[in-house]
Amino acid sequence: MTHKVSPIWNNLPADLWLRLNDCLDAAKYSNFQQERPVMFIRADDVAVPSENFSRLMSLFYRYGMPLCLAVVPAWLTHKRWARLNSMSGDNKCLWCWHQHGWRHVNHSKKGKKYEFGPDRLLPLIKKDLIKGMDRLQHIMGENFYPVFTPPWNRCDDHTLALLRDLKYKAVSKNSTKGSGIPEQITQYNVHVDLHTRKEKKAGEGWSNLFDELSTALASGLCGIMIHHQLMNHQAFVFLESLLQILIEKKSVKVVHFKDLIGD
Ligand SMILES: [Zn+2]
Repeated sequence: MTHKVSPIWNNLPADLWLRLNDCLDAAKYSNFQQERPVMFIRADDVAVPSENFSRLMSLFYRYGMPLCLAVVPAWLTHKRWARLNSMSGDNKCLWCWHQHGWRHVNHSKKGKKYEFGPDRLLPLIKKDLIKGMDRLQHIMGENFYPVFTPPWNRCDDHTLALLRDLKYKAVSKNSTKGSGIPEQITQYNVHVDLHTRKEKKAGEGWSNLFDELSTALASGLCGIMIHHQLMNHQAFVFLESLLQILIEKKSVKVVHFKDLIGD
């Protein structure tokens, strides 16, 4: 959970507006499906009310933009939910509150971090999935929607099969971290990581970010990941610019998981 703020958020590029415009214009013309590309935006590590969370929700509310919210069940309490819910305004259909692991802890003995990975016994994984879903359903009621975002964007194939058996409607991981077996469960994966980027240099980070955005939009579906705890003022300015351009151009359709699934 400890991340450093990426150097791209020290300064925004002077030509940010132009580059975002170019990216969305290119998406309009490269789409082979004759339909607008689809985008979803997913905010992770949700559960604890904060100034940044409130600012994030106000921003999406103001622009009427849908947002997928990945909530860590063990961090959520009735009191916290009341605060989060009050920050979300009166347009409930903008939000897709869903499950982000159980406790967001790493169970891997070495290598990549996993809460739901190969170093755990399947019955324990199943128990945690069920506890997480039950807790969110109990606290959030009908606001909860059964989609699963695994912590660190990864889980093993056995977990994917369990999610299907437990009637989750979809999973949202990182598109580059193992595809799993496609027929196990529908996947809506993220392609653009805004706030936990690994590049050491800002120029390289921006170049990769715009490449990821363009490539995903050209494929027809683009998932963007947010970590609001790591957002500084520049990160909020960038996000607002993106939302403004999306509204102005209308070249991309922005949805959340319920829309993608068709519920
Ligand atoms: Zn997370």
